[in-house]
Amino acid sequence: VLTALVVFAANATFLTVGLKADTGQYSIEQISEHVYRFTANNHHSVFAVSKKGILVTDPINPEAARWLREELDRRFSRPIRYVVYSHSHSDHTYGGEEFAGASFISHRYARDAMVRTRSRSRLPDVTFLNQMQIVMDDLTIHLRYHGPNNGQGSISMLFKPDDVLFVVDWIVLGRMPYMDLPGYDIPGMMRSTEEVLQMSFARFVGGHGDTGAKADVRAYLGYLQALHDSVLDGIEGGKSLEELKRDVELPEYRNLTMYEQWLPMNVEAMYNSLVRDSYLLRRPENRPSSTVESSD
Ligand SMILES: [Zn+2]
Repeated sequence: VLTALVVFAANATFLTVGLKADTGQYSIEQISEHVYRFTANNHHSVFAVSKKGILVTDPINPEAARWLREELDRRFSRPIRYVVYSHSHSDHTYGGEEFAGASFISHRYARDAMVRTRSRSRLPDVTFLNQMQIVMDDLTIHLRYHGPNNGQGSISMLFKPDDVLFVVDWIVLGRMPYMDLPGYDIPGMMRSTEEVLQMSFARFVGGHGDTGAKADVRAYLGYLQALHDSVLDGIEGGKSLEELKRDVELPEYRNLTMYEQWLPMNVEAMYNSLVRDSYLLRRPENRPSSTVESSD
């Protein structure tokens, strides 16, 4: 009798915690006729619902994916036909096994990275290199690779006819780019963002941050360019990293969340990218000795 009571009490505690977590952490918001945004804490993904099926993007994590699958069954009662991973990173791709029965799709490099690093999530069944279209009843989902930017095989997803674009990590609206941009290819982020700005879309949904319009994506690229130009000007002016972290200000962007906290880290990331990848300090005009030589 005692054992049974203990088990019951343990189950009851677990159930209460589970319910509390669900209502606090997860939500679904309709973006357009067919497209919805799924939120799990600081992470977002989207899913699209057509007459006969559902396409899910990042599962985010096993608990979030379970909650999402139950909500999809309850709200729409139609099969989940596709799962598309945005890129290789586990904080977006874990939980895929919750959607058993769907076809899993990713960029080839995302799958390669998942295999190579022993990802515990469901591996993609179908991969592509440049672009791929998925037709689901009256919806077409355009998947496109823009080169390196963050993680491996990170793609854009354009939902037509809704004109909704979904990108994870390398475009963030309403918030500063993440800390010191760990694992980001900064020139690649800028080039990829320039490419999506050539595409036709009305609404943007990111894996983090706010939703927005195309003008907001253009403003985000404006921030990256302003940061790039300020740091490059500083390097060419002979400033050290410490001076740049102290001095660079971009007041036009101070309304972005985490502006004060992350600006010096963004400056450091940009400096490292310019010095390590673009060899700025190896240019004769930027070497301290060249000043002496040219003054002779
Ligand atoms: Zn992320």
